[in-house]
This record gives sequence, C-alpha cells and structure tokens, in this order.
Amino acid sequence: MSKIYDVIIVGAGPAAWSASIFLVRAGMSTLVVGIDNESGLADAPDIKNFPGFPDGISGRTLLDNMIVQAKNQGVIYEKQEITHIDETDGVFKLRTANLSEFAANNLILAHGANYIKANLSGEKEYAGRGVHYCALCDGPI
Ligand SMILES: Cc1cc2nc3c(=O)[nH]c(=O)nc-3n(C[C@H](O)[C@H](O)[C@H](O)COP(=O)(O)OP(=O)(O)OC[C@H]3O[C@@H](n4cnc5c(N)ncnc54)[C@H](O)[C@@H]3O)c2cc1C
Repeated sequence: MSKIYDVIIVGAGPAAWSASIFLVRAGMSTLVVGIDNESGLADAPDIKNFPGFPDGISGRTLLDNMIVQAKNQGVIYEKQEITHIDETDGVFKLRTANLSEFAANNLILAHGANYIKANLSGEKEYAGRGVHYCALCDGPI
C-alpha cells in the first residue's frame, strides 16, 4: 500500500460513479472499490425515468456508460469487495476480500441497500414481472 488517495468510494453503483465524477473533476485522486455487477442498476431491464434517453435505456448499458465516463476522467476502479475499514490519524485503510489494501484521506460509503422482502411465495421468480419494490421506477408498469 503506497499511494494515499484523496478519496476512496466503496460501491460501484450509480451513487458511487456520480460522486467519483464530481470528485475527479475537482482535482481529487479518486478510487472506486466495488463490484458493478452487484449494483441494482445492473439488473434493471429498462430505465425510463432518467432524463436524456427518450426511449429508455437498459440499466446495464447505463451503468457501463457511467464507468467509462468516470474512467475517462481519471477515476481508478478496483472491482473488489471491501471487508475491513480502519482509521488511524485521519487516514482510512481498507482491505478487500482478496487481501489488497488501499488508503485514503477521505471515505465515501455508497454501498447501496437491499429491498426488504415480504417472503411471499413466487416473490423471487416474479421480481420485475408483477412483483415490484420501487413505485418511482415501476409504478407506471
Ligand atoms: C430490477 C431493478 C430495477 C430497477 N429499476 C429502476 C428504474 O427503472 N429506475 C430507477 O430509478 N431505479 C431503478 N432501480 C433502482 C436502482 O437500481 C437503485 O436505486 C440504484 O442502483 C441505487 O444505486 P446505489 O449506487 O445507491 O447502490 P447500488 O446500485 O445498489 O450499488 C451498491 C454497490 O455497492 C457495492 N458494495 C456493497 N457492499 C460492498 C463492499 N463491502 N465492498 C465493496 N463494494 C460494496 C456493490 O457491489 C454495488 O456495486 C431498479 C433496481 C432493480 C433491482
């Protein structure tokens, strides 16, 4: 562990990529650590409430675009899971599941959240096809 980043962001969903773009454009060295495939956006079949895409866009494509946009501006991406975070003298030290270590002066947690399940029969099988959790996303359906 040699470099100390200005900011490390834990998470690789839209919150993380949005924050990373603002930070790197403000001149801060920025590392994103997370697994984009685990973002809720990666599973969203058709996003129609995000301005700029008149016919909608798949969540996977939108997420890929965010990653390219962030990397093009200098954001570094490590596709790994964080398992430990410590702070000593104002420096955050993070360790991943495969024992990589990273350090930063600032930390942003953008690790998302899971929907609370109702544990109904068929809930998993019909997710997105009749079973919905997000009125803003799926109310019109
Ligand atoms: C099927 C489906 C359809 C959806 N459709 C829509 C829609 O049409 N419109 C809409 O606005 N929203 C929609 N959503 C919701 C949208 O996907 C979420 O609101 C959005 O993804 C939340 O972004 P986020 O960055 O906060 O978290 P997430 O996208 O959940 O990302 C969390 C990230 O944190 C990472 N992470 C967690 N723990 C760790 C750790 N210990 N170490 C490293 N990384 C970690 C994960 O790997 C992941 O990359 C949908 C969601 C689903 C599941």
